[in-house]
Amino acid sequence: MKGTAIHITGIVQGVGFRPWVWRTATRLGLNGTVLNSFDGVHIELQGNAESFLLALENDPPPLSRIDTIETRATELEPMDHFEILASTGEGEAMQRISPDISICEDCRRELSDPANRRFRYPFINCINCGPRFSIIENLPYDRPNTSMQAFAMCPACASEYADPADRRYHAQPIACPVCGPQMMPENWEDVWVTSIRQGKIIAVKGIGGFHLACDALNPEAVARLRKRKGRESKPFALMVPNLDWVRTVCSVSLEEERLLTSRERPVVLLKLRKRFETVEDIAPGLNTLGVMLPYSPMHEIMFDRFPNPVIMTSANYTSEPMIHLNEQAEKKLSGIADVFLMHNRPIVNRCDDPVCAVHERQTIVLRPGRGIAPVSMPVDTDQCILAFGADMKNTFALAHHGQLTLHPYIGDLENPETQMILEDAVQRELD
Ligand SMILES: [Zn+2]
Ligand SMILES: [Zn+2]
Repeated sequence: MKGTAIHITGIVQGVGFRPWVWRTATRLGLNGTVLNSFDGVHIELQGNAESFLLALENDPPPLSRIDTIETRATELEPMDHFEILASTGEGEAMQRISPDISICEDCRRELSDPANRRFRYPFINCINCGPRFSIIENLPYDRPNTSMQAFAMCPACASEYADPADRRYHAQPIACPVCGPQMMPENWEDVWVTSIRQGKIIAVKGIGGFHLACDALNPEAVARLRKRKGRESKPFALMVPNLDWVRTVCSVSLEEERLLTSRERPVVLLKLRKRFETVEDIAPGLNTLGVMLPYSPMHEIMFDRFPNPVIMTSANYTSEPMIHLNEQAEKKLSGIADVFLMHNRPIVNRCDDPVCAVHERQTIVLRPGRGIAPVSMPVDTDQCILAFGADMKNTFALAHHGQLTLHPYIGDLENPETQMILEDAVQRELD
């Protein structure tokens, strides 16, 4: 019978696109199929696709970004329902993946609901939030191609994953306390709160790598971290429980507030207006402070137990890239961290926090990272172009198949290890 084939490119994987297509087609009474492929999302609809295309234009999935929509008339086998097909590996490798996304309001609510089966579960996520780039090994974006492949879904998660009406339908990193990743040690919440109160330095494995954390208002702890990290004057970023404390020490404009609370949750450079006791050790000689809000469920739990500002600086040796592997952390951070809080979900692609500032009401990305990068956009060239820059805040961008992708910040190129990691990342992208 007659139908329409639709091919969509852009950020359409890992953003709940297929479930959205399923729901919309079902609501409109359209039969057909949708599938993920290397070159985007392919939809086949029986009958008149006009209402569907209108919905796509007016009310697309919130996390998606549509670059192109191609439609053509086609002949289809008759179907009596709408179906999500298994992904295919065919087509040109031009599809790009979403960056990691900070915890959404729905998950935050479940996280603090004692009746919910994911109550206080640090790896709660859904189709609208959670890890993406940091767990992906290969495209297309499906669970077997991510570091979640090691965790077999329990029956409850499997049924949510398979239910098109559920907000975790086809959420690839879906997990729960029964089947998903676990923190180490098991009593990590108590270890966290005891250690941070004692002024200890804690290595914490997060979404895109390890951080070094300590109580930002404890002068001895901050001074110790600065000394051990061998970082004479580079400022530390702070993670704060909410905007209230930030407002007491920094001036925060409406744009800066929006940026701090945005889905990307970057480190935002803010103007200091009140100096506090530890500030000289946090941001020596500066009149700005780098601040971010919690972005993962683990952070939410941490601040629930310890509601004060915390230093949350990337765990690395000066100028080396962020550490992202458990063994590497134990080895390299043994002289810096007193305590380790880790988990068993492997980080495939390290991704440091992004740094932004607001200048004349415009957001400036000073360092692309977790939540912001990788970011891809269509470019008007068929040439393959590889670009690098800059020396101290290095990353790369690749234009390929008409798409330009900017990668997350990697590190300072004065360091040979950073150069090797950069070469590896470029090679992975070119393969
Ligand atoms: Zn969520
Ligand atoms: Zn489960």
